[in-house]
Amino acid sequence: TILFNLGEMATATESLDEATFEVLGVELGYKVQMVSPEDEDKELLEGFGLDLEQELADEDDGDLEIRPPVVTVMGHVDHGKTRLLDAIRQTNVTAGEAGGITQHIGAYQIWTEHDGHERAITFIDTPGHEAFTAMRARGAQVTDIAILVVAADDGIMPQTVEALNHAQAAGVPIVVAVNKIDKPDANPARVRQQLTEYGLVAEEYGGDVMFVDVSARENIGIQDLLDAVLLTADAGLDLRANPNKDARGVAIEAKLDKGRGSVATVLIQSGTLRVGDAIVAGTAYGRVRAMMDENGDAVEEAAPARPVQVQGLNSVPRAGDTFLVTDEDRMARQIAEKREAAARNAQLAKARKRISLEDFTRALEEGKVESLNLIIKGDVSGAVEALEESLMKIEVDDTVQLRILHRGVGAVTESDVDLATIDNAIIVGFNVRPDQKARERAQREGVDIRFYSVIYSALEDIENSLKGMLKPEF
Ligand code: GDP
Repeated sequence: TILFNLGEMATATESLDEATFEVLGVELGYKVQMVSPEDEDKELLEGFGLDLEQELADEDDGDLEIRPPVVTVMGHVDHGKTRLLDAIRQTNVTAGEAGGITQHIGAYQIWTEHDGHERAITFIDTPGHEAFTAMRARGAQVTDIAILVVAADDGIMPQTVEALNHAQAAGVPIVVAVNKIDKPDANPARVRQQLTEYGLVAEEYGGDVMFVDVSARENIGIQDLLDAVLLTADAGLDLRANPNKDARGVAIEAKLDKGRGSVATVLIQSGTLRVGDAIVAGTAYGRVRAMMDENGDAVEEAAPARPVQVQGLNSVPRAGDTFLVTDEDRMARQIAEKREAAARNAQLAKARKRISLEDFTRALEEGKVESLNLIIKGDVSGAVEALEESLMKIEVDDTVQLRILHRGVGAVTESDVDLATIDNAIIVGFNVRPDQKARERAQREGVDIRFYSVIYSALEDIENSLKGMLKPEF
């Protein structure tokens, strides 16, 4: 029997479904109240006659127009993410904008000529997978494509692997930017070689991932990188949206400004946002008083994939909060108020939704789960690999799967906890402790983190659990 399929593990986004949790709850002797925040919010909106999923399903094909891809830049620290985002933005400043003051609003859009057409691409300009995963934890997936930056002199580093695991777990296609090729010790071939081990095989090696050699510092290869992003978008993604309706989207950054009050950067996902619209974003509501783009210019309306900074909300939404335009001001306010109330209850119920290794064992005995999702963190890569290898050798019957969603070197971090939260994984820490924030978040979210200093004990627990035999801890 093939128990563990690494390729499958890497892209696994499946987690325990609701029914399983409910049954599990009954099994454990308490009633599980299903409060997946997304579901609850969906119900809440339906109460106002807003069914966003249905709305998308009912969309007439003829009303859909191509929208720009939304891109996040990820990679190891110091590999050049920030510099690359700057280079992309600089090379595409049009004459009219040159000299204007560029604003950091959390995202920007550039235009580029591709295949004889002017095409736009939207970049989230907070680099890194942490923001990406934090948003995903709130149910918002805004990124269509991830650019994985790898410094050609440094090669694959722990956060490179972390970033690619996060992108793959979210099912987001990756374009690899092999950066710093201007350096004398740059070895772009080695980067390609190293990444094949993680399932990212370059086109020139017979795979389907585009690798582009760039230098963010010397402005080399930037245009090729933009072309690769658009080719990847056109090859596998159906990026279309209806611009002719009330806007829906996600808040990607927000703050309180001394002079302007709450300012929130929103990314339009469908429809068109206009000055004067009544909107609700998470638990914030109001009327769009003014909109500003990344060049500091006032904007009257914003189409799909366009990031704009909005003024006029009564409070500051969180990154990842969804927003929508309502017919009347009153409705926006009522939705916000109901969400406030729901958020208070959700905190409590959340903890009950997650699964611990003991719960898993029990559910397994009853045949109610099929996979155990794990995140492995260790002090040295040798230990992580050894543990992973041994885990793969555990033999259990073929109805059970072990999925390793992410493995890495270093302390258990908040972003590990976020990933565990989304995909109902258990975190195994080998000779590492969580940092304070990760510990708090795990407690809040009810994520099970287990620490070991002997591989054998970790192996024993997981094996017992997979075989439905784990003894509860006292
Ligand atoms: P981040 O941590 O990934 O955002 O990395 P930064 O963009 O801050 O870059 C880290 C360092 O690498 C900075 O000193 C950059 O100037 C430098 N750097 C970035 N890109 C290049 C490049 O293409 N070539 C060279 N030689 N240095 C670069």
